[in-house]
Amino acid sequence: MAKLIVSDLDVTDKKVLIRVDFNVPIKDGVIGDDNRIVAALPTINYVIDNGGKAILLSHLGRIKTEEDKAKLSLRPVAERLSELLKKPVTFVPATRGKELEDAINNMKDGDVLVMENTRFEDLDGKKESKNDPELGKYWASLGDLYVNDAFGTAHRAHASNVGISSNMPQAAAGFLMEKEIKFLGDAVENPRHPFVAILGGAKVSDKIGVISNLLNKADKIIVGGGMTYTFYAAKGLTVGKSLVETDKIDLAKQIMAEAGDKLVLPVDNVVATEFANDAPHKVVEGNIPDGYMALDIGPKAIEDFKKVLADAKTVVWNGPMGVFEMPNYAKGTLEIGKALGELKDATTIIGGGDSTAAAKQLGIAPQITHISTGGGASLEYLEGKELPGIAAITNK
Ligand code: ADP
Ligand code: MG
Repeated sequence: MAKLIVSDLDVTDKKVLIRVDFNVPIKDGVIGDDNRIVAALPTINYVIDNGGKAILLSHLGRIKTEEDKAKLSLRPVAERLSELLKKPVTFVPATRGKELEDAINNMKDGDVLVMENTRFEDLDGKKESKNDPELGKYWASLGDLYVNDAFGTAHRAHASNVGISSNMPQAAAGFLMEKEIKFLGDAVENPRHPFVAILGGAKVSDKIGVISNLLNKADKIIVGGGMTYTFYAAKGLTVGKSLVETDKIDLAKQIMAEAGDKLVLPVDNVVATEFANDAPHKVVEGNIPDGYMALDIGPKAIEDFKKVLADAKTVVWNGPMGVFEMPNYAKGTLEIGKALGELKDATTIIGGGDSTAAAKQLGIAPQITHISTGGGASLEYLEGKELPGIAAITNK
C-alpha cells in the first residue's frame, strides 16, 4: 500500500517533527559509524530546504540507569549532524519541558533542532518504549506535522513513532523509510524472477519466520551458516559438534518436505575441531565427522550456490554463510557476497545486522542495491509481519 511521503506535505513555515534513527555506535562520546545519520539527511534537507523547521527525535541505545544517560546523550550526534549539514544544529538536553518548548518556539524556517535521547523517558516507567499515551500526545503537541524516517525502530510501537502518529491528523514516511519499504516490499510482494533467498546465520529458530514466508514466494532458498546443520540432522547426516537445535529437527524435516528442490543446502563444509580461528580445520563432504564442527560452507557449495545465483533477478540475503568473524571461516560469506555484487541485471538486498556487518567488513557493500538500515525491522519485514511503525503511517 502506498504511504504518504514527506514530499507530499507542505512543510513551509511548519514545525516538522521527524523521528529519525540516530541509534549509532558510540563510545566515550565518539561516533563509530555515522551511516544512520547520513541516511537521514535527504529527509532533513527536504524539510529545511522547503522552509520547514526540523525537530528531530531519536533513541540511542538503552537507558536503564541514571549513569547510562551520560554515555548515551545525543549531543555528539547533533554535533556530527551539524558538520554533515554544514549549518548550526540546536541541541536541547531535555525530552520535555520549558527549555525544549522555548527552543522550538524560537526556531526560524530552515532551522534544525535535536532533542535529547527519547529513551531518557524510559527511566521513569519506560514511557518511550512502552508507548505511554501521555508522552506521545505531548510530543505531538510540539509540532505541526510528523514524519517517520526511522525504519530501524519500525518493528516497535514506541511513543516517538506510533504514539506521535496516533496524535496527529497525518503521519508521513521520510525518504529513507520510503526506500526501505520500496526495496523490501518489492522483494517480498512483487519480485522479479528468479527470486533467490539466501538464508544463513546462527540459528534456525531465528529464521523460521523468514523461511516460511519466503517459501511460497522465492524460486530457490539457499541455506548456509549455522542453521544448515539442523537440516543436516533432519536428513539423517551426522553433525559432529556442529550447532544443532534438536527441538527444531522435526520442523526442518517439514520445511524440506514442503520446499522440495527449492531448498538448496551446502554439499560440503569447512569443519574444525574447536570454535577458534586457528583450530585444525579441513573440508569434508556430507557427514560431519565426530569431534568436528562445521564453521563455513565448502568450495563445492560455493560453486553450487553461485550457479543458483547466476540468473537471479532478485536476491534477498539474510544471515552469513559461516563464522565470518574468523578469517578462516569467512570465505563462504565473502564468495557469496562477491557473487551477489557481480550480478548484472539483479536487485540485491541485504537485511540483518550481522549480514550487513559482514558485507561492510568484506568490502562488498558498494555493489549491493540496497542494504537495509534496520536489523530486527528488516527481519520482521521479511517474515511478512506488519510493522507497527509503518502501519501508523498514513496510507494514500
Ligand atoms: P543476521 O544478524 O544477519 O540476521 P544472525 O544473527 O542470524 O545474522 O547470525 C550471525 C551469526 O551467525 C554470526 O555471528 C556468525 O558467526 C554465526 N554463524 C554463522 N555460521 C555459523 C556456524 N556454522 N556455526 C556457528 N555460528 C555460525
Ligand atoms: Mg544478528
